[in-house]
This record gives sequence, C-alpha cells and structure tokens, in this order.
Amino acid sequence: MTITAIIVAGGRGERAGGELPKQYQRLLGKPVLAWSVEAFAMAGVDQIVVVRSAEHATLAESATHGRQVEFVSGGATRTASVRAGLAAAGSADIILIHDAARPGLTNAMVRALIDEIEGGASAAAPALPVADSLLRTDAEGHVEAEIDRAGAMRVQTPQAFRGDVLRAAYAAAGESAAFGDDIGVVRAFGVQAKVIPGDQRLMKITHPEDLAIVERILGGERIVCVGSGIDAHRFGPGAFVTLCGVQIPHDKGLVGHSDADAGWHALVDAILGALGEGDIGAHFPPSDPQWKGADSERFLRHAAELAAERGARISHVDITLVCERPKIGPHRESMRARTAEVLGLPLSRVSVKATTTERMGFLGREEGLAAQATATLDRPV
Ligand code: MG
Repeated sequence: MTITAIIVAGGRGERAGGELPKQYQRLLGKPVLAWSVEAFAMAGVDQIVVVRSAEHATLAESATHGRQVEFVSGGATRTASVRAGLAAAGSADIILIHDAARPGLTNAMVRALIDEIEGGASAAAPALPVADSLLRTDAEGHVEAEIDRAGAMRVQTPQAFRGDVLRAAYAAAGESAAFGDDIGVVRAFGVQAKVIPGDQRLMKITHPEDLAIVERILGGERIVCVGSGIDAHRFGPGAFVTLCGVQIPHDKGLVGHSDADAGWHALVDAILGALGEGDIGAHFPPSDPQWKGADSERFLRHAAELAAERGARISHVDITLVCERPKIGPHRESMRARTAEVLGLPLSRVSVKATTTERMGFLGREEGLAAQATATLDRPV
C-alpha cells in the first residue's frame, strides 16, 4: 500500500491577519505548515505533496526545509488545489488530504485514518459533535430558524480516501466543481463516508486570535522572563557615535570591535538573558575578525531570530543610555523607531531613555558611555 498525504496550503489566509499568510506564521517557533509536514513524515507516509500558491513558493520551501516534500501550485478554489495535488499523487493506494491551517495533527490520528481505509472504508474523516445550539440568521443577525443539532458533526482534516475512489470522484466532479471539503466530493459521487472521533488539537487557524489559542493547546506551559543587559564603550577619536542604530554627530567616536552601539549591545544581552542563551560575546566573539566594524543590527536580528526559534515572543524592551554628551533627547524617537523596526514590534512596546551620572565617575568625566536594557519575553517553560 502506498500512502500519499496532500497538504493544502494554497490559500491566502487573509482572515487570520499578520503580515504572512497563516500557514507560514510561526507557531511555537516553527511555521504552521511545518507542523503538519512533520506529523505526516513521523507517521511514515510514502509521499508528501504540498499545494501552495506560486507566489509563496520560497516561503513554502523554507517552511519545510529538510523534509522530503513535493510542491505543486494551487488553483482558484480548494477543489482545484486538491485536484492539482492529486495529479502529483499518481496512483497512490491511500490518499490523505489535510489543511495546513490545522497544525495539531498527531501520529495517532494519521494511523487511525489509515487503519480505517485499510479496514475497508472508502472515505473517513475525524469529526467532533456540536455542543452549542445551532441557529440560522439573516445578514442583520435576525434569527430565521433553529437547526436541529442531533447527529450534527464538525468535520476536520485529514480526510482519508481509497486512492482509486478519490481519483474517480474528482474525474466525475468536473473541472469547475467547488466543494467545501473532499468528503463532499466523494459523497457527490455516491461513495459512503465514515467519521472517526476528532481531536480538539486539530482546531483550524482562521481568525487572528486562533494562533494564540492553538499555541496554548499545543505549547503547554509558558512563562514571562525578564532579561537584563549592561554595556559600556570608551570614547575615542571620531565625528559620530552609533546608538540604537542611529548615527549621532559628536566630537568623539566610540571605540569597540564592532560599531560599539552600547544601546543595542545591552539589549542583545537582555534578550539572550531572558532566553538563557549566554551573552553577546559567546554568539559573536570579539576574537573573530568577521565582526570587526560590524553593524550591530546583525546582532540584534540574531537575538530576535533566536527568540522566535525558541517559540518566544518579545513583549517589551526598555533601554537606558547613560552619558553626559551627546544629548540623547533629540534622537530618542528615531532610536525607538529603529529598534522597533528591527525587532518587528509596535512602537508602544519599545522604550529608549537617557540619564547622566551628575558628572560623577567615568561616565561623568566623559571617558565613555554606558547602556542598560531589559527585555520581557513570553516563552515556553
Ligand atoms: Mg559592546
């Protein structure tokens, strides 16, 4: 028996919000699409076909990096997309069709569906009973009718089929047919379908808030961690200093192996601290010539990427610059904006402020400049 899994990831997913379509957004550090690809790979299916839109070819490839996956371009409707996937599935004996927007797929569910088809069913799908009362309303929200929920089920994916039956049903359906799901396609062809107990974890990500709900279901416990960082650099000859990514004209420069951006260096250490990932020197050793004169944006992007890989979200960052001169006030808002841009955060979650030491100590004597930062991260335990 050859088994093919077709993952439908062709939708634009505009309802879920965010910059990326939902199937490419990160869920606990991993693209939504990768969860289903890995579940099918773990279950040992023979072939995985991902149907994606041509414009997202690069996103789909990077989301499934390291897995044996075939890609095809989707069509205008879900039915047309599955049809494209079927062409790639060839003569597979069993075909499972799954929505990429349901990342909570388990090995047990894949096996249960395959068992159902091997046991003689032509079509099978997981489904859950409906707990709420059902009403039909008009566009203004007026109730028009009560719907009897006795026997009503919420159908999920993957939906599993005998390959020959599914191919025949699609051939009979015609090119322009548009069905809500594949159980609908085979039933229109006169095939009996069966449901097996569904799984709450297979919830579909549809609305913006759904990603956080699925994250809670799949991710287990999360904690809030606060990391702190401190950095200082000595003044030397120069005509400007770089602080929080902004060049400020000054009668001195800052001496350092990289661009000596103490603000962002403190922030990188704060983010690494909240992740328990060591310090900036461990990630970018000063002994390594490739970091000589480096733009600290690379360090900050690295820390943000590491946080995303660990399934962490940066909730807030706060940077304090300590110096007598240059005056930070006129540049504060550009520093906030640059930091927010690099971290992909709204401005309201980035704070930059400044203070002096009332002319006391090395900072007061203007021998150098220091920065302190905290980063608050929401992350898996
Ligand atoms: Mg430094």
